[in-house]
Amino acid sequence: MLKIAIQKSGRLYDQSIRLLNECGLIIDNAKGQLKVSVQNFDAEILFLRNSDIPKYTESGVADLAIVGENVIQEMNVEVKKLIQLGFSKCRLSIATPKQSNYNSILSLQQKKIATSYPNTLQRYLQSQNIDASIHQISGSVEIAPNIGLADAICDLVSSGNTLFKNNLVEQEVILHSQAALYANENTSKTKKDLIEQLLFRIESVQRAKAFDYILFNIPNKNIKLASSILPGLKSPTIIPLLTPDWSSVHSVIEKKQYWQIINKLKSIGAEGILVSPVQKMVL
Ligand code: ATP
Ligand code: MG
Repeated sequence: MLKIAIQKSGRLYDQSIRLLNECGLIIDNAKGQLKVSVQNFDAEILFLRNSDIPKYTESGVADLAIVGENVIQEMNVEVKKLIQLGFSKCRLSIATPKQSNYNSILSLQQKKIATSYPNTLQRYLQSQNIDASIHQISGSVEIAPNIGLADAICDLVSSGNTLFKNNLVEQEVILHSQAALYANENTSKTKKDLIEQLLFRIESVQRAKAFDYILFNIPNKNIKLASSILPGLKSPTIIPLLTPDWSSVHSVIEKKQYWQIINKLKSIGAEGILVSPVQKMVL
C-alpha cells in the first residue's frame, strides 16, 4: 500500500485533499484523523505536521508527500521531487523594520535575525559572506523586531500583507517555493507503479486546468482559417450543421490565449462560440 503524507492542518491541507480528489482518490472524513485509507486506490493518507513530512519521507515511513519546497530545503533531506503542484506559492525573504536604514545585505553584518528557517538562512548568509546571528523561533516571527528580539526577520511571504501590517519591508528574496510532490528514494517496484499511476493522473489534471474546450459554428469556407487560429491537440473536429455550408468546430484552447483566440474567430465569422472547462486531459 502506498503511503502518502500530507499536512494535517494548515495552508497546504485543503489543496492537497482537493488535488487527490481530482485524481479520483476517494478519501473520507479526513479532518482530525491521523491515517485514512483511500477507498478506490491502493493507498493510505498520513496526516502529519508539515515540518515532520520531510524526515518521514526520507526514512520511508511515507512513500510520497505533498509539501512545500521550502521545507524540504530547510530540512536538507534526500528525497526525490516528482512534480511541482502550482499551489502555496511563496518566497522566503529577509525583511527589516521600515525605519531601519537598510542599504544592502551588508547592513545585516553583526545583526540579529529571527527566523523559523535557520538552515536556509545560514546557507544564504554564508553565500553572501555575512556574519549575523540567527535567532530561531517557531512562529509569529514578524513580531520579533517590534519586541526587540531581532533587527530583522527571515520568513515566508506571499502577499506581503503580514509584513506591511507589522511595519516591515521586504529586502532580500532567498528562495521561491510552492507545493510539490516528493517521493522516497528507495521505493519498491510495486509502489513505483502506483506512483507512476498517480503522477499520470496529476499531469492530466494539471494539463486540463490550462485548457478550455471550445466549440463554435462557422461557414465552411473559413474552416481552414479557423483551424489555423486554433492550436488544438491534433486538429479540430469538424461536424457539418444542418444549415448548408456551415460546420461546427470543436477543439481545445489554452486559457491564457482565450480572448485573443475568441476575437480572431469572431473576425472570421464564427458564431455561437461555447467554451467550457476540461476536467482531465490525457494525451
Ligand atoms: P506545521 O504543519 O508544522 O504547523 P507550518 O506552521 O509551517 O507547519 P503553515 O503555516 O500551514 O504550516 O505553512 C505550510 C506551508 O505553506 C509553508 O511551509 C509554505 O510552503 C506554504 N506557504 C505559502 N504561503 C505562505 C505564507 N504566506 N506564509 C507561510 N507559509 C506559506
Ligand atoms: Mg503551524
